Amino acid sequence: MLQPGNTIGILGGGQLGRMTALAAAQLGLKSVIFCPEAASPAFQVSDAHVCATYDDWEALARFAAQVQVVTYEFENVPLDTAEFLAQRVPLRPGARALAITQDRLQEKTFINGLGIETAPFAAVDDLDGLHRAVAAIGLPAVLKTRRFGYDGKGQATVLPGDDLAAAWEAIGRQSAILEGFVPFDREVSIIAARRADDAFAAYEVTQNVHRNHILHTSTVPAEVGAATARQARSFACAIAGALDYVGVFAVELFVVGHGADERVIVNEIAPRVHNSGHWTQDGSVTSQFEQHVRAVAGWPLGETGRIGQVEMTNLIGDDVADWHEILAEPGAHLHLYGKAEARAGRKMGHVNRIWPDGAACPRGSSKSC
Ligand code: AMP
Repeated sequence: MLQPGNTIGILGGGQLGRMTALAAAQLGLKSVIFCPEAASPAFQVSDAHVCATYDDWEALARFAAQVQVVTYEFENVPLDTAEFLAQRVPLRPGARALAITQDRLQEKTFINGLGIETAPFAAVDDLDGLHRAVAAIGLPAVLKTRRFGYDGKGQATVLPGDDLAAAWEAIGRQSAILEGFVPFDREVSIIAARRADDAFAAYEVTQNVHRNHILHTSTVPAEVGAATARQARSFACAIAGALDYVGVFAVELFVVGHGADERVIVNEIAPRVHNSGHWTQDGSVTSQFEQHVRAVAGWPLGETGRIGQVEMTNLIGDDVADWHEILAEPGAHLHLYGKAEARAGRKMGHVNRIWPDGAACPRGSSKSC
């Protein structure tokens, strides 16, 4: 268990690391960020940083010597790096959570092994394998690289009649999985936390809308029935227990159907704080970032209750130019990431809009605030 004044090490210096470091500071903890990029948003708010590559063993050893625990803000931390650090200092979540969630084939096999439904899938290692997978799974389907995919990168939708060789080219001829296309009605996620002693706490299910494969809004409460919400929570609890997980994580889910016919299917697990949990910063008693720090520090988990209705909107690229108007809006909480350049598709900040339960959204329709 950490004590106030101790130091948490964070691998990755993006906005997730930055907001984790801010939460650590609020709880009297220091942070050291490890990231290869010199202009990392998290460097601006941490006590110290190490700017080096993830295979710089001397720099990693120096980093480990400065901290009492190491966590990470992204799931593509090289396993060698994770294991090197874990030999020197507690790594939370552990290397096994990384190994499983870095690889879509291992991840889906693990989820199915818990008796939890995913899209049907098959491994694809070459073009012949893609033909066999299509015969087994059927079309439409989604071809995804096993590793390093994010925000729709490394994915190709395959429709009946499509040229399979072109799809195989499109994902760079890398080891992949073919997933059956899920005709989902809504996309939701659940953010939860587990401590080493099995204490578990989940937030309410969040409804997510993507634009151009990037999260656009997260709305709470989500349009899901009580049974679906309970099921999402029990999936998260089972996944965390089976991974012996420590920290905050997200489970992304597809919801098919409505009312009594509603069914929920797991898409993927993110072993870290998650964009669809940003609403908790202003819409919950405990933010996901504080919760993550509490969990990795071995401290009591915080209350996850919701304060009113919430909509989180990402500010992507030039959206951030509206910062001044957003600040003038009642009920709007602006978060900017300190990035110098607003490139297209780049997450520059987000805004959490909160309004009372039962009331209409102050900006109009309650579903698109
Ligand atoms: P992922 O990188 O797996 O989170 O996928 C990114 C997005 O692609 C998801 O949020 C969905 O909108 C869509 N998608 C991924 N897999 C499937 C699938 N099997 N069926 C339908 N849509 C999918």
